[in-house]
Amino acid sequence: MKAACWMAKKTVQIQDVPDPKILNRQDAIVRITSTAICGSDLHLYNGFVPSMESGDILGHEFMGEVMEVGPAVQKLKVGDRVVVPFPISCGRCWSCQHDLWSLCENTNPNAWMAEQLWGHSPAGIFGYSHMLGGYAGGQAQYARVPFADVGPIKIPDGLTDEQVLFLSDIFPTGYMGADYCDIKPGDVIAVWGCGPVGQMAIASAYLLGAERVIAIDRFPYRLRIARERAGAETLNYEEVDVYDALMEMTGGRGPDACIDAVGMESHTPGLPYLYDRVKQAMSMETDRPLALREAIMACRNGGTVSVIGVYGGFIDKFPMGSLMNRSLTLRTGQCHAHRYMKPLLDRIQKGEIDPSFIITHRLPLADAPEGYDMFLNKEDECLKVVLKP
Ligand SMILES: [Zn+2]
Ligand SMILES: [Zn+2]
Repeated sequence: MKAACWMAKKTVQIQDVPDPKILNRQDAIVRITSTAICGSDLHLYNGFVPSMESGDILGHEFMGEVMEVGPAVQKLKVGDRVVVPFPISCGRCWSCQHDLWSLCENTNPNAWMAEQLWGHSPAGIFGYSHMLGGYAGGQAQYARVPFADVGPIKIPDGLTDEQVLFLSDIFPTGYMGADYCDIKPGDVIAVWGCGPVGQMAIASAYLLGAERVIAIDRFPYRLRIARERAGAETLNYEEVDVYDALMEMTGGRGPDACIDAVGMESHTPGLPYLYDRVKQAMSMETDRPLALREAIMACRNGGTVSVIGVYGGFIDKFPMGSLMNRSLTLRTGQCHAHRYMKPLLDRIQKGEIDPSFIITHRLPLADAPEGYDMFLNKEDECLKVVLKP
């Protein structure tokens, strides 16, 4: 089959690779009908995630048709149309039993690698480094899906691929970011980052009852989509001082909750950015936490900072004093996607939201290398690339 493979930093190539096979009794093989490039794939592309190997198949946002099931699979049958969540979860361990699906204790065969860096290992993730399991991803014609009775959600007829594809990651991820804000009527939520996850977080904050959502980015087209499609008020951080603007918009108190949908490769004008960029380049700090620092400083006293942007390692100048003295709550995590897929599918079915509004580019799988480049460089107002194998 054809697959989009990570070959080296900034190099993705379409390769001929062996078709996936059933390896375990609970596996299914899915023929992929739609798959997407995620903002977090760009961290792989840029070489910020350790333990990628040349030839690794990329992709953790995919859906398709079940082609084959292992002998222990009971809920899925050949021909079912499914969306597959990005974390791989067994459904039986302590974490899965406690609704902490992205922390499954049984799906990362390379847990020791993650334990070295993080103390404990989270779940394995499709197409996201050997440290997170070394699983082949879904930017391919076929994928092997372990624990097929646990993760994949069946899609009813009448919904298009584009309406439901993002249940695999970014819609539940954005929704969890908003869910963690514990939104009450009248709340003002600020969202750093108007990439795909940021857009989903904005829309989700409204679904959960936020009165106002203020979105922060530097690309005019992403801010425009946040305004026109997701309904946010917007701030361009290259034009205004974000802290000052947020204080002015919230009566001097600050947003009730702040969502960091940026993660480890944030930008900001001026010296702090250079400081972090240099330290990161010298491997003295792995992640650039500019958006996170700003989110903490801007959040109102007693508010919540919800971090769904991806971080890899260690950060510098973390404003712990602000967090502690002002009674802030910090909540974060890789999305427990399984927790949210069914309720969010219901919301899509009821017409409360159509996440496909963020799609700007539809490309054949063969054009994945161009897709990565375009998304990275924000060419042609690229916000979300969907690949069709
Ligand atoms: Zn993703
Ligand atoms: Zn588990």
